[in-house]
Amino acid sequence: MTDLGLPSVPPRTSTELGNGISFGRGHHFTAAPGLDIQALVERATAPLSVILQVTKRCDFDCTFCSETLQLPDPTLAHLETMRDNLAGTKRLFLSGGEPLMRKDFGEIVDMFADEDFVLAVPTNATHGLQHAKRIAGKVAFANIGLEGPRGITNRVRGDYDKVMPGIRALQAEGIPISLSSVVYRSTLSALQFTAQIADVLDAGKVKLIMPLRKGNALKLDPNEFITDAEAEETFGRLLELRTTMQWSPAIRLTTWTPENEGHMIVVEPNGTTNAWPVYDQKDLFEPLGNLLEEPIDEIWRRYRFKRNHFAKYLGASIRSTAHAGTASGA
Ligand code: SF4
Repeated sequence: MTDLGLPSVPPRTSTELGNGISFGRGHHFTAAPGLDIQALVERATAPLSVILQVTKRCDFDCTFCSETLQLPDPTLAHLETMRDNLAGTKRLFLSGGEPLMRKDFGEIVDMFADEDFVLAVPTNATHGLQHAKRIAGKVAFANIGLEGPRGITNRVRGDYDKVMPGIRALQAEGIPISLSSVVYRSTLSALQFTAQIADVLDAGKVKLIMPLRKGNALKLDPNEFITDAEAEETFGRLLELRTTMQWSPAIRLTTWTPENEGHMIVVEPNGTTNAWPVYDQKDLFEPLGNLLEEPIDEIWRRYRFKRNHFAKYLGASIRSTAHAGTASGA
């Protein structure tokens, strides 16, 4: 523990992933100066990043949640097949739903940790205490959903007082964390507190995302969706505050522009692999194939958003700062 009573977190370093791409302190990819995204797209035979849903279940019911339709969890044998078929992918999110709802999550992490993936876990952290010890040292970071102050998190997401002990448990085991916050018009005034909390927690980054019109978000007041111009202004304001307050975490803000369409590849529990979000698709998923039946390089070949994928993950199509401890970054 540090003098402040905060858990000590080991220093994060940058990992070279080849082709001029590294993965660093802000928990995102950075490209070497002058790296041409189109050239990367033409050379690539597999994705930079894939989101694998190990469950659709969750103990929260966030007001913006897109993943409200349920499917049975994949078995460990199914996950093993999917792992083998993901060879060549650089980073893998073991995602949900809420992935820590799976009692066998430690086994799942073990199954993937021996392979060549940068592993990350998007989580609401409520089950952090049960799993932290087992997954420590095997995941690059946990990305925790938090909308800043207690009142805002409780209204928008779930239970702040369940999330925070989970964060502490993960950090006590030395697992680096980042924060992910959804942005509503009614939460704009809380963003600076989210950034301050992220700095206190020594988070790698704060990822700000706009809700997508799917699942629970279909019930949101339309007034909660901010415009692209407002997002721009919000990011500018946060950057000014970041300089004044000397916050360390990187800040990234993603809006749903044509340049970001379909940039994510999401594998559902039954292996169905989708481009996400694809704006003209009913549920924003564009099916690409099934990872239980074919390797990711086959699926990658028919993926039409390769450029958006690289541009987003390398920070070229979003608003983005590097971590303060990073010399440069996308
Ligand atoms: S957004 Fe995440 S934490 Fe919230 S209900 Fe959906 S899966 Fe659970």
